[in-house]
Amino acid sequence: MKLTDKCYAVLGLGCYPPWVVNAGFICGSGKTLVVDSSSAYLSAQTIYDYAKAVNPKNELLLINTEKHLDHIGGNCLFEEKGIPIFGHELNKRLPQDLESNINYFNDCILEEERKSAREEKIFYQNTKLVNPSFKVADGQIFDIGDAEAKILFTPGHTETNISIFIPSEKVIYVGDAVVQGYLPNILNSDLDGWKQWLNSLDIISSLDIYWLVPGHGNALSGNGIRVEIERIRKILNRAIETGDPKYAVS
Ligand SMILES: [Zn+2]
Repeated sequence: MKLTDKCYAVLGLGCYPPWVVNAGFICGSGKTLVVDSSSAYLSAQTIYDYAKAVNPKNELLLINTEKHLDHIGGNCLFEEKGIPIFGHELNKRLPQDLESNINYFNDCILEEERKSAREEKIFYQNTKLVNPSFKVADGQIFDIGDAEAKILFTPGHTETNISIFIPSEKVIYVGDAVVQGYLPNILNSDLDGWKQWLNSLDIISSLDIYWLVPGHGNALSGNGIRVEIERIRKILNRAIETGDPKYAVS
């Protein structure tokens, strides 16, 4: 999906049912900055080829918005192509984490024949765990030629969550700081994290943006951004008041 002359969203990639996961890229005159690599090698190929097609001469860089595997699973494809991978310094996962994800996929297969055929391995073929090699700082600027992309730390969902803001395009990629439609995943965080998350939503709300690309669901524009952020804010406030993430999603 083309958002502006330079900013693109790659929406609806394979994740966990009923979740889809998103990626995107910002194509400047010299560099293309790819945001997230999806869950696995196969969908990373789709992101890579779209990003490459817009300006084939550009140098590619990849940045991960967080440590969860649905955002970094395709890093291996980008590493294979020699593309530098950036992320939060705490974005460090173990190969066992990927193994348990693959086993979880198997648990979700209902049909016995498909389960015993281990069809989840088709989803994850060629996928191996690759962490970011370069850490980013809050406020760091990526100069991609005729535009700048600014890194904003927006923790809460995890301590590693970052957003990528392109002021000249009025576009922001926020990872799972905002999810469209879905109940936000607040179970991987705690009271302090939920408070941080509210603060991160304040940071995002203070920016002059027209497009917001969430980690999951559809891209948001205009007033739709405010409505969706308010929905998530309500869920977080309820969790903070009750201390109970389950109550928050009831
Ligand atoms: Zn996610």
